[in-house]
Amino acid sequence: MTRELTHFINGEHVAGTSGRFSDVFDPSTGMVQARVPLASTDEVSAAIAAAEVAQVSWGETNPQKRARVLQKFIELVARDNEELARLLSSEHGKTVDDAKGDIQRGIEVIEFSLGAPHLLKGEYSWNAGGGIDVYSMRQPLGVVTGITPFNFPAMIPLWKAGPALAAGNAFILKPSERDPSVPLRLAELFLEAGLPAGVFSVVNGDKQAVDALLTDDRIKAVGFVGSTPIAQYIYETAAIHGKRAQCFGGAKNHMIVMPDADLDQVADALIGAGYGSAGERCMAISVAVPVGAETADALSAKLAERVAELRVGPALADDVDYGPLVSAEAVARVNGYIQQAVDEGATLLADGRGIVVPGFENGFYLGPTLFDNVTTDMTIYKEEVFGPVLIIARADDYEQALAMASDHEFGNGVAIFTRDGDAARDFSARVNVGMVGVNVPIPVPIAYHTFGGWKKSGFGDLNQHGPDAFRFYTKTKTVTSRWPSGIKEGASFVIPTMH
Ligand code: NAD
Repeated sequence: MTRELTHFINGEHVAGTSGRFSDVFDPSTGMVQARVPLASTDEVSAAIAAAEVAQVSWGETNPQKRARVLQKFIELVARDNEELARLLSSEHGKTVDDAKGDIQRGIEVIEFSLGAPHLLKGEYSWNAGGGIDVYSMRQPLGVVTGITPFNFPAMIPLWKAGPALAAGNAFILKPSERDPSVPLRLAELFLEAGLPAGVFSVVNGDKQAVDALLTDDRIKAVGFVGSTPIAQYIYETAAIHGKRAQCFGGAKNHMIVMPDADLDQVADALIGAGYGSAGERCMAISVAVPVGAETADALSAKLAERVAELRVGPALADDVDYGPLVSAEAVARVNGYIQQAVDEGATLLADGRGIVVPGFENGFYLGPTLFDNVTTDMTIYKEEVFGPVLIIARADDYEQALAMASDHEFGNGVAIFTRDGDAARDFSARVNVGMVGVNVPIPVPIAYHTFGGWKKSGFGDLNQHGPDAFRFYTKTKTVTSRWPSGIKEGASFVIPTMH
């Protein structure tokens, strides 16, 4: 019988009551391994009610004590790291080592959030005028939510929850329905670490659960990560309902390869960043832009050689470079993009379609695919593919390469590989993209900086993690105070100034 997953509300696993479920697959075998309940509006409402009650005393708990709970959580995740990573791999399809990275990148933001006592400090101005002192404080918003994608089922929930909890909010996570088991385990570990029941909840579901969160007055902020059309929908709907929202969307990350770059280093970087996690990363490199025909010809030949060596297999195996895609639909979607690129005239150097992994014939596998001579009017250049497909789009010169990355509708990440400091500096300053790597293919900023794409890759202001996350999950109150001895007689009918 198929295992039935739950929600996690008010410190307990709670069975779904809506009667609606979604299958959770093992992408390596293609088999259904569990089913996850899809919450109704009433179930979401019950979770919000519990969170609202729990938030009051959590918000009043001093930030150092809140940080100690998070410290304990870090220890528990380390204790269960192997189990969590394998669970993550079994539902997502990424390798176990990569799953450990997914968890670790989330934990690094929890570590940053331990600094809450410092990060929540306000500002103080003594004697701003006639016996007046002014100070500000950061207060929690109340109940906030994170709506997260399938591709980082540990990292992104923790990017959202860590700062939100450390700042004194109650947090409701609506994880992806494709891989909900790790988020549920994280809820258990938060409880074990001493987080009061109701402060961190997991509500599983689809659009119905999301809409219930977006339209409920008791939810004060929405942190979203996922595809661009949904990011835009969430941003607009949250705003109409008076909530602050930060919504991060899809990507098409370019890597500019200058003629002076070390092409072996470049090939290593492109193979890892293009095909790691089957290309299902928002910071994957999906477009290589060699500058000049000589660079392009040499790079194309090197990549074709390297792609042929890649090992694709089940997520839990030790000797594979990447595992299956998350679903059969994902394989069909990427296959469609490959065919369209062929039809539109791109040169197919490696075709991953139809790959069979012995013993795992029904898994959702797709071999590494490589195209050359892709032009900017082709669909495969314009749209996010989110699969193990790397394209080479040649540029005649540096200015053209810079313009390609800058003009693309997505603006998440970009990289330049060069030995020329002037070129790298110029590129970093001028490129119209939110995160830049100089000889770094996946420039995901470290936890104490902030993460955020531009253009169609991000809606709303303030980035994820780093100091911005504390600004997003708190509201600033400013107090202007004067003690009775400083108050002069008489009413004044003009606006107070520092005249
Ligand atoms: P998705 O947009 O399908 O789903 C994201 C979340 O939205 C899930 O929780 C899902 O249940 C919910 N959702 C889906 N359809 C909805 C609808 N119609 N109404 C309301 N909610 C809905 O994204 P995904 O396939 O899970 O994740 C992959 C996408 O996420 C890619 O586009 C990738 O680039 C992007 N991503 C972006 C970043 C970033 O930081 N910019 C990071 C990781 C992933």
